[in-house]
Amino acid sequence: MKKLSIVVPCYNEQEAAPIFYDTVHGMEDKLSSVELEFIFVDDGSKDGTLDVLRGLHAKDERVHYVSFSRNFGKEAGIYAGLEKSTGDYVVIMDVDLQDPPAMLPEMLSYIESGEYERVATRRVDRKGEPPIRSWFARKFYKLMNKISSADIVDGARDYQMMTRKVVDAILAMGEYNRFSKGIFGWVGFKSKWLEFENVERVAGETKWSFWKLFIYAIDGIVAFSTAPLIMASVFGVIMCLVAFIFILVIIVKTLILGDPTSGWPSMVCIILLVSGIQLLCMGVLGQYMAKTYLETKKRPIYLVQEEE
Ligand code: UDP
Ligand code: MG
Repeated sequence: MKKLSIVVPCYNEQEAAPIFYDTVHGMEDKLSSVELEFIFVDDGSKDGTLDVLRGLHAKDERVHYVSFSRNFGKEAGIYAGLEKSTGDYVVIMDVDLQDPPAMLPEMLSYIESGEYERVATRRVDRKGEPPIRSWFARKFYKLMNKISSADIVDGARDYQMMTRKVVDAILAMGEYNRFSKGIFGWVGFKSKWLEFENVERVAGETKWSFWKLFIYAIDGIVAFSTAPLIMASVFGVIMCLVAFIFILVIIVKTLILGDPTSGWPSMVCIILLVSGIQLLCMGVLGQYMAKTYLETKKRPIYLVQEEE
């Protein structure tokens, strides 16, 4: 019998975790073709999440957990969960039931057919989300697909089932800056996409502020595209051309009109503009350098405090 591992990253989810377990447990008869394994990852929660997980482990020996020494982020949680999983198939799920467990049997049937290595899901709408956030998200996916070689699907969730082959490919990407959406797109493999409508979380609250999402988007771009660096060079070339034309104009004008020195305001504007662009490009460069710096340190992606 094949085994299906369910990887669930949790951060301050003491209310949601038991509901999640009960819900999946309640539909096990529909997943009878596989043996189940639960891998909960406690991402340094400050509430009683770890106690809840200990309780679930005591009740059901198929429940395992990894508890981090501090909050390392969902990406690290997914990595740890995949590392600990032993199943032939693995599915990644949010604990807040925003990834409908009702889709599991369908996903499993696609994987079991052997035709697909990965069954991924995407949300077709963003109901219950602030409109401004949806707008930024859509723009982000558009931009990302233009400038990156990784295929990043709009509304793609981390909710996906995959075979061991894909899990191994993802684990082989040991980079420190983990942008999952990019990583899954980058490894490729034959994927089936399923769609579902947005579901509101069952308990607790979202861990993502607008600002956190914005930083996440920047991280994603830096991790999966070097287009901003090219843009910086293009900026430089354009500025040089403009300067060259200016020089010619000024020489000609001086020769013809004998123009005395003037133009203090325009000079200030030019200096401000050019130094602004320089700082911007340095900032872009700095982003890449910072990521390279962190990457070269080869720090572990997460640290475990307790596991079972
Ligand atoms: N999560 C995590 N570490 C974090 C933030 C979130 O493991 O630092 C988990 C969280 O417990 C949940 C999932 O990632 O299972 C998705 O988080 P959330 O529901 O807050 O995000 P949203 O659905 O609002 O995008
Ligand atoms: Mg959620």
